[in-house]
Amino acid sequence: MSRDIVSDYMMTEKRIHAVLTAATAILHLSDSPRLDAEILLSHLLSVRRSHLFAWPDTILTSQQYTQFQTLITRRAQNEPIAYLIGHKEFWSLRLQVTENTLVPRPDTELLVEQSLARLPLEQQTTVIDLGTGSGAIALAIAYERPLCHVLATDKSGAALSVAQKNAHQLGLSVDFLCSDWYSHLDDQKATLIVSNPPYIAKNDPHLKQLQYEPLEALVSGQDGLTDIRYLIAHASAHLRPQGFLLLEHADEQAESVQALFQQYAYTAIHTYQDLAGLDRVTVGQL
Ligand code: GLN
Repeated sequence: MSRDIVSDYMMTEKRIHAVLTAATAILHLSDSPRLDAEILLSHLLSVRRSHLFAWPDTILTSQQYTQFQTLITRRAQNEPIAYLIGHKEFWSLRLQVTENTLVPRPDTELLVEQSLARLPLEQQTTVIDLGTGSGAIALAIAYERPLCHVLATDKSGAALSVAQKNAHQLGLSVDFLCSDWYSHLDDQKATLIVSNPPYIAKNDPHLKQLQYEPLEALVSGQDGLTDIRYLIAHASAHLRPQGFLLLEHADEQAESVQALFQQYAYTAIHTYQDLAGLDRVTVGQL
């Protein structure tokens, strides 16, 4: 091959449409390889995804090309997109995420939905979000209920600082407290306590796929219920009369979680299904 043909070939290889096709093939194990590649490239080029379709023949610079290869390699090793681009949408809010926070899942929006259903718009209520991580649940509630006093806790200072930045970025008012579950709440009481606690069993093989996320936000003892059990047993000290406790859990835990709510004399116990039809959130009232 002449030098011209070789360089022509190299250039073609660096065109947007060609790098996307190649990256899509590399990411075949992802649920959405093409979309992943497009999100990563548009992030790298600081353009909207539509730009990639409008300008498929644009040639990447060598630096952009190398950076894109690095992102695709990391993604191929199962690193979440949210960590690679540094943010994730939750409840239409853009949240910064880091390896110190769980990546907010769409399923968790059910927890927000069911919290809002119990928080009248015009009432001044208090909500506590335990183990807030990136602040997703607390911020979504603060966004939807401007009169509500929202307190968000986490035992990880690193996570709290991400949540705090998100609140600032979104211009939302939430109080933050470093606390291991109820440990530093003193005598604060809420109308509603909400939490997406860790709930995966220690030996669950599913954990391998979550290797990039903080283990302490995922794993909860032998049966995955250690933290849920604790939260249910001790909420009464921090709930106002007729207050609610809302917890996310795995679908196969619904029965056990309901039984725990019963054991601790909660009423109006109900489990709700996520968009996939799986038991995901259980509520009890005290
Ligand atoms: N829903 C997450 C998952 O299984 C786990 C989140 C959690 O433990 N709170 O991927």
